Amino acid sequence: MKSDARSALPEKLRAIIKGNATDAIKARAEKALESWGKSEAPAPDATKTTTPLSGKLNAPIFEKRKPASAEDQALVEKLNADGRGVDGRGKAVAQANQDAHTERADRVAAAFGKRVVWVEGLAGDGFNHPGIDRSVIFLDPDSKRPVQVLIAHEIAHSLQRENPFGYKELLDNIRSAIDPEAWKEFVKRAQKAETDAGGKALSDAQLRNEFTANLIADHAVQQHAEAVRRENAERGGEYKGYSSYLKPEGREVASAAISAFLRDSGHSDHSFYNAQSPKDEARTPATKEEQEKFHADTVRRLGPQITTALHESLTGTGAKGKPVEVSGHWTRGAIHASLYARNLGQVGAHEAFHEFFSRLSEAGPAAAKVVDILSRAADSEYVTRQLERMLDGDKNALAQIKKGAPNYLEERMAYMFQFHQAAPPRRPPPAGACQSAWPGPANPGRRGSRARGACVFPAAA
Ligand SMILES: [Zn+2]
Ligand SMILES: [Zn+2]
Repeated sequence: MKSDARSALPEKLRAIIKGNATDAIKARAEKALESWGKSEAPAPDATKTTTPLSGKLNAPIFEKRKPASAEDQALVEKLNADGRGVDGRGKAVAQANQDAHTERADRVAAAFGKRVVWVEGLAGDGFNHPGIDRSVIFLDPDSKRPVQVLIAHEIAHSLQRENPFGYKELLDNIRSAIDPEAWKEFVKRAQKAETDAGGKALSDAQLRNEFTANLIADHAVQQHAEAVRRENAERGGEYKGYSSYLKPEGREVASAAISAFLRDSGHSDHSFYNAQSPKDEARTPATKEEQEKFHADTVRRLGPQITTALHESLTGTGAKGKPVEVSGHWTRGAIHASLYARNLGQVGAHEAFHEFFSRLSEAGPAAAKVVDILSRAADSEYVTRQLERMLDGDKNALAQIKKGAPNYLEERMAYMFQFHQAAPPRRPPPAGACQSAWPGPANPGRRGSRARGACVFPAAA
């Protein structure tokens, strides 16, 4: 075991314990540090039987469907032509009346700079194809797994491509937390599924990536446990998740390592339950690290003359004119944000844009052309549709960007900038990533539905 990467996590945990974090966060870090030591103990008795089965729900994600946009269908045509992930007859669909669960999927995807396209006839539960559009996550509406699990699994594959160094560190950090029996069982099942589907055995790296994506999906479920429980209750069945992949004493370690990986990738645990409005679910305040980043990013964007302030409570005017708790607020020369903002980084970017735009508007004729270009982009149907999709479910934000609302063009620009800043840096995927086959679950009743991409959700677990 390499001591370099392995020692990184305890150090981070110790820093949290010594730092200015809240007691709740410190307690969690202490617990994680404690179990870190224990996880170096020898592997448990090999006769122990583990069943690392995630289980399935009874009902599909959604049944009432309507055709999706032409834009989505065009993407699925590309998938069909490529032949990976679908059997050539994939069809883009949308939920007839969007429910809270698929809305949540859209919000979580948006927090990672992605969007969901639902595909009937997808070979696996989920798929991402960087060659077609790396910001799109294709999901199967017929899947029997919770939607949060699917979205997080595919996001995990994206993060792995976008932050290969952080990902390597994550693999090193979770290794000791994994139940060796569960891993063996996973490998056996995964390879069987692969050979049953006529493919060749998966590489060690592919197996690790699928296993790890499932662990990250489980972590995402914990961030949204209430909502996922509601979804599971509505759809019935027995979804158990992937916690059996870990030694009981390894769970805190894995969870802390995944949190650290998300941070290192420019996100946080909260990205898995993105919403603009704070405080409608119990939240912990921003960590000292997040607070410092908020101040530093704002000064970097706007120069030292800007004032930044974080508040326990911040109110603004809601869609119906009533006071509501808000995430961020801008006044000339000052950026305010709530300590409980779901995504402090994005809120900072959004409010910084308002300051920038006000400076631009005062800069005279030289800047007028820029203002004109930005206004036309913000008024375009394409941008409006993108924003509406990304802000889906957020009534107050949708009211802000609605045509005719006060400063709606400027609000649209601020959201454009916010989501642009939230998208992870674009780097070419490292060689070898997502190139060889992972079997789609040989979907009963679906002919030829074998996927040929590495990023298909595994049928194994
Ligand atoms: Zn705004
Ligand atoms: Zn996968």
